Amino acid sequence: DSSSGSSGFFSKRTFPGRVPAGIGRKSLRIVVTGGAGFVGSHLVDKLISRGDEVIVIDNFFTGRKENLVHLFRNPRFELIRHDVVEPILLEVDQIYHLACPASPVHYKYNPTNVMGTLNMLGLAKRVGARFLLTSTSEVYGDPLVHPQKETYWGNVNPIGERSCYDEGKRTAETLTMDYHRGADVEVRIARIFNTYGPRMCLDDGRVVSNFVAQVIRKQPMTVYGDGKQTRSFQYVSDLVDGLVALMEGEHVGPFNLGNPGEFTMLELAEVVKETIDSSATIEFKPNTADDPHKRKPDISKAKELLNWEPRISLREGLPLMVNDFRNRILNGDEGKGL
Ligand code: NAD
Ligand code: UDP
Ligand code: UDP
Repeated sequence: DSSSGSSGFFSKRTFPGRVPAGIGRKSLRIVVTGGAGFVGSHLVDKLISRGDEVIVIDNFFTGRKENLVHLFRNPRFELIRHDVVEPILLEVDQIYHLACPASPVHYKYNPTNVMGTLNMLGLAKRVGARFLLTSTSEVYGDPLVHPQKETYWGNVNPIGERSCYDEGKRTAETLTMDYHRGADVEVRIARIFNTYGPRMCLDDGRVVSNFVAQVIRKQPMTVYGDGKQTRSFQYVSDLVDGLVALMEGEHVGPFNLGNPGEFTMLELAEVVKETIDSSATIEFKPNTADDPHKRKPDISKAKELLNWEPRISLREGLPLMVNDFRNRILNGDEGKGL
């Protein structure tokens, strides 16, 4: 019941409209959870630049104030230090829910995917906001279908080391659809495939950031296993365009948002080497358990219904993150939050 709790602390409320954001379109008030992180901060830049008001909620678990510092004097921007596992009261039009300990070294520690998503859905229900969940290609697990379409239900180990992330996001998708069907919340679900770009955490263990940082530091690139596993790498601005197209569009999803270009880890190492330093080397390390053997999005649904597709190839995108990584490594800023 979408009007439940109307007499309580979290009762449904309305709030005054805001100033126009230019001809023909009202400015929106938008929450971005996890907005101090890698993807979130790029999304916030785009929303601010088109004239909207943005409230970032972040506990700086992996995110950094530095990613948003250029907005601190902007009156349309607010930053709240808050853990989404705890309830919060705000009056907003849209919620982009990105908060999540998203990398292998961090995601074991936190119930964010369940409790955080529930709170943001409760908020969306109370104020009638549209809610967008950033889910992940990990919901497909170690896929038995290739490339992955949104209709594939996945092959996920429920009790493995990665399970709190995969299953956490699967639960978040379930909650999102339950609030949609049961409480009429307007929802959108994005399944994001591996994404890279400036402001990525330097040392959170993802392959692109590892390889780029290792080569800049003149260390060998650590290839796990035989390096023949595949991934598809998307540049962050393409993802941000896809998230906004999904939020503004008429379709719930889920939608795969990723770049269908598929690379083995050995091929990725080669591209990083060509891009940054032709003398770079690799070393092999044992792989982690349950590592998906291959992954590549089928994006026909997003192409057709959102009129979206990525524009930046790996060879075009990699150089765009190198300066940012160089500067942060030279400045001794290892990118850890808190
Ligand atoms: P990130 O770690 O840079 O950003 C996550 C942000 O969430 C950080 O700023 C962190 O401090 C914040 N956060 C974590 N727990 C929180 C909590 N309990 N309360 C408030 N804030 C909290 O990661 P990212 O790559 O920008 O990922 C953003 C979203 O996209 C995540 O939901 C992630 O699962 C999803 N995603 C990312 C990728 C990718 O390749 N980058 C792929 C698939 C899905
Ligand atoms: N919630 C929140 N902000 C709000 C409204 C709800 O943080 O503005 C939280 C609330 O504390 C609850 C969750 O969202 O833990 C789910 O809310 P909902 O109203 O759907 O569930 P109920 O409180 O009725 O169990
Ligand atoms: N990987 C690697 N070297 C590294 C980090 C990761 O070879 O230094 C591999 C990892 O085993 C996986 C792939 O790169 O097969 C992608 O890993 P990442 O953690 O970036 O993303 P995900 O596994 O979530 O797709």
